[in-house]
Amino acid sequence: MEPGEAAAVAADLRDTMRAHPGCVGLAAPQIGAPVRVIVVDVSAHRRGRRSHGELVLLNPRVAFARGGEVAREGCLSIPHLTANVRRATDVVLDATGLDGARRWIGTAGFEARCLLHEIDHLDGVLFLDRVDSLSRDVFRRRNYALASGLVSPASVSRTKRR
Ligand SMILES: [Zn+2]
Repeated sequence: MEPGEAAAVAADLRDTMRAHPGCVGLAAPQIGAPVRVIVVDVSAHRRGRRSHGELVLLNPRVAFARGGEVAREGCLSIPHLTANVRRATDVVLDATGLDGARRWIGTAGFEARCLLHEIDHLDGVLFLDRVDSLSRDVFRRRNYALASGLVSPASVSRTKRR
């Protein structure tokens, strides 16, 4: 991945994330870019008590993970569903910044969860792949999809009637 390519993908990711209120992270494969770039910013989210602000990471890797907690997750790529997902509570990531410098990021809680969710996207793993039970742990969502503009109101009401 060339630096220019990474910067262009990062800018697209940031714009897309900012265009969707409530979106706290995005990974390159979600916008059709087959590169290992993620953007996460939980600073404006009510659950984002601990935050590094906006993180743009190239080739992020989980160097250390500890703990486990189940919490609700959603995803811009699957706007009509949320699910209970078990993730580590404390992580240390090894990544490269847009400036090419190596970064170590230690974090916990909601920010750690978001980073792990986005890193999963780089490997083609979705949050639904991580639920214990598709019948017990997956829930329909009615508002986010409408707010995000990803689906038309008509398709949402079809979902509601099911
Ligand atoms: Zn996602």
